[in-house]
Amino acid sequence: MSLESYRDPGLVGRLLDQVRDILAGRPDPLVLMEVCGTHTVAISRSGLRDLLRGTVELRSGPGCPVCVTSQADIDRMVALARLPGVTVLTYGDMLRVPGSFGSLEEARAAGADVRVVYSALQALEMVDGTDRTYVFLGVGFETTAPGVGLALEEARRRNLKGFSVLSVHKTLPPALRALLETGTSRGRSSVQGFILPGHVSAVIGRRAYDFLAAEYGLPGAVTGFEPVDILLAVRELATLLSRPDGAPRVLNLYPRVVRERGNPRAQELLARVFEPATAEWRGLGALDASGLALREEWADFDAWRRLGGAAEDWLAERGPAAGAVSGCRCGDVLRGELAPPECPLFGRACHPGRPAGPCMVSSEGSCAAYYRYEKRGAEG
Ligand code: SF4
Repeated sequence: MSLESYRDPGLVGRLLDQVRDILAGRPDPLVLMEVCGTHTVAISRSGLRDLLRGTVELRSGPGCPVCVTSQADIDRMVALARLPGVTVLTYGDMLRVPGSFGSLEEARAAGADVRVVYSALQALEMVDGTDRTYVFLGVGFETTAPGVGLALEEARRRNLKGFSVLSVHKTLPPALRALLETGTSRGRSSVQGFILPGHVSAVIGRRAYDFLAAEYGLPGAVTGFEPVDILLAVRELATLLSRPDGAPRVLNLYPRVVRERGNPRAQELLARVFEPATAEWRGLGALDASGLALREEWADFDAWRRLGGAAEDWLAERGPAAGAVSGCRCGDVLRGELAPPECPLFGRACHPGRPAGPCMVSSEGSCAAYYRYEKRGAEG
């Protein structure tokens, strides 16, 4: 199939009809959660949420890497940027995330050297032969971490001592577990299946999600990012969930990219450079083995090991952290407990021009996606 055929309106219409037929007669909509910011944007942009309304509720989860970055980590990034002799290199989406002591953009306005890059390898090219320390902000899931690993190996090969990484990378399966363990009113009890991200799965493989079916009795579908990909996942999950005797399974509907065991070379690279570590997630708290910290062998390139003491001093001088912006419900949005338009600030005190929280800052944030493509939901 060509890429265009994955957007074919006729095929989209037939899949929608099939989903409605499969679910006809159910008293309540099926509740599915997508746990990937790219899926969230694709669903909002294509109008699938509206098209499925009444039949399937598509709920967004903790899939936007910028959004799940904790307030404490944002503060650490800002503190590093404010140190003399430090240049912070970051993806553009991080710039405007509000921290307790301002955003990276505000730090830059106050004189900090903060530059936007598109990849860790591009960040490497910024490193000069001076005494400056360049800190790349490693934000993202299993998809982006291998690129950072590559950049670190290249930095060592080229003896670029000025390069360093603040790794706040996270891994998706522990977040899914945490979501299912919370047992909140709209958590475990109501999500009936997961739409799983094709790009993360290309690295970790379909098998990495088998625990959803084996331990929680829930189905999942790994899929791509075009409307037909997403609707195929919805149709297959609806089919699985409509069979009273059907055992839950995790399906791979993206075989053009995803293998059963993922990408072994990327996994080896991750294992060479990173090790599992406790990570703090916005909305989910501290989760064991859910982060990727640099291994001891990479301590020379670890920004926090090199500069953390000075950054802690900078933070201590400013007193207690203020925490998230008052009234921002980003944590609830990331757990799927609140749809963005249900936040009292959505579209009023919080909009892309003046975001109150990361879910409105990031291009992959649920609030930004709803605002951009589904704003009428907030207006009734
Ligand atoms: S609309 Fe704004 S304030 Fe509300 S949860 Fe989203 S980012 Fe936070």
